[in-house]
Amino acid sequence: MEKNYDVIIVGAGPAGAHCARLLSQQSKLNILVLDRTQEIGEPKKSTAATFESTIKDHNIPSEVIMQKTNEFVIEGPTQEARFSIPGVVLDFHQLKHALIDQAVNNGIDLEIATNVTGPLIENGKVCGVKYHNLEGSGEIRANIIVDASGPEGILARQVGLRKIEAKEHATGMEYELERIDLPEKVMLFRLDQNFAPGGYSWICSLQGHQAKVGNCWYDAYFQSMKGQGSSVAYLHKWMHEDKRLQQTRALEIHAGDAYLTGKLLTRTYPGLICIGDSVCSINPLSGEGIRTGMNSAAFAAEAILNAQGDYSKEKMSAYQKKWNAYAKAWKYSSLMAKVIYQLPNKKLDTLIKVVRQLEVSSMEAIINYRFGIKEMAKLVKPVILNKL
Ligand SMILES: Cc1cc2nc3c(=O)[nH]c(=O)nc-3n(C[C@H](O)[C@H](O)[C@H](O)COP(=O)(O)OP(=O)(O)OC[C@H]3O[C@@H](n4cnc5c(N)ncnc54)[C@H](O)[C@@H]3O)c2cc1C
Repeated sequence: MEKNYDVIIVGAGPAGAHCARLLSQQSKLNILVLDRTQEIGEPKKSTAATFESTIKDHNIPSEVIMQKTNEFVIEGPTQEARFSIPGVVLDFHQLKHALIDQAVNNGIDLEIATNVTGPLIENGKVCGVKYHNLEGSGEIRANIIVDASGPEGILARQVGLRKIEAKEHATGMEYELERIDLPEKVMLFRLDQNFAPGGYSWICSLQGHQAKVGNCWYDAYFQSMKGQGSSVAYLHKWMHEDKRLQQTRALEIHAGDAYLTGKLLTRTYPGLICIGDSVCSINPLSGEGIRTGMNSAAFAAEAILNAQGDYSKEKMSAYQKKWNAYAKAWKYSSLMAKVIYQLPNKKLDTLIKVVRQLEVSSMEAIINYRFGIKEMAKLVKPVILNKL
């Protein structure tokens, strides 16, 4: 590891690895990626369900696809809405590996088992990072630093960019199950306060009779919906009560957390640019963070390349503008999450009846975050006013 780089990227998750890959493909910048994990690809915290556009837009190698799904389903306690919208379930470990392998092949330096402990700040500008690894502690400098450290936001937090509240914290867990019996390959989300109070559960088909099955919720809404007990306990309850899951057996368990906010956080600080979950790029309604994090990485890489070494506030503001335009719907998503995840089961069924009436194109607009207050009202108003 050298002592000076053009770019240091902290974190080799989907956002950091994708940013490294894009910068190394399109420039001769001297790039270092640091990750605290012992093994790239770990932890395998995410279901990694996404849409086909993610694969195409970000040129993701097809080997990381575990399963293609053809039905997008949203179900309530007794109702369901189905759309023929294709999706993909990725191998999260392989995804991170594939992205960082390409960057390494392009010539970046990668150091694992290296925990970044904070920014190195001189004259009000981030000019490097402090780290600790098996060889001890040290400092490395760069012209621009990228925080891609996920929910930890190790640099974003310390320079004051992570102004979020405890109520915006969410937790999730899932099993990879075998012996599941489903008639087709689905990406299915279930809104049911019995199995995921203050959030939702999911089934994402894998090959054969396997699937990723999990739940997640906002801690605050879990409390307001009087949730009691652990994620595992609620998942077991669902597996016990739902016929589709009764014969299943767990092969793997994955878990993680995230901060979800409708606010468009400031993403840059002199010498620092933050991407992915380090600045809450995850959508606050869907919990989708891979496509959104990779988009943030692409916007940041573009700004870094266009800056040609001048990482001034003006040049870096291009990234913030692009993100703000992309994430316009985040504030509505956050409002919808607040309403939907705190609806009683009867109203959740009413919501599903409203959703069922949507054209596929309207559902596609929602999953691509092309919606505003009008579309939101159309969905939620009949539920609140008991119109169905
Ligand atoms: C249970 C669960 C299910 C999910 N399912 C989906 C899904 O189906 N689809 C979807 O799109 N999203 C899903 N998400 C969200 C998605 O996984 C995240 O939004 C996404 O991984 C964010 O990518 P990232 O690169 O920003 O951060 P991360 O994936 O968290 O990567 C951050 C990297 O930084 C490293 N790091 C952290 N701190 C330091 C440090 N101090 N020093 C050095 N390295 C550090 C970590 O080791 C890690 O490699 C899910 C999340 C959870 C928890």
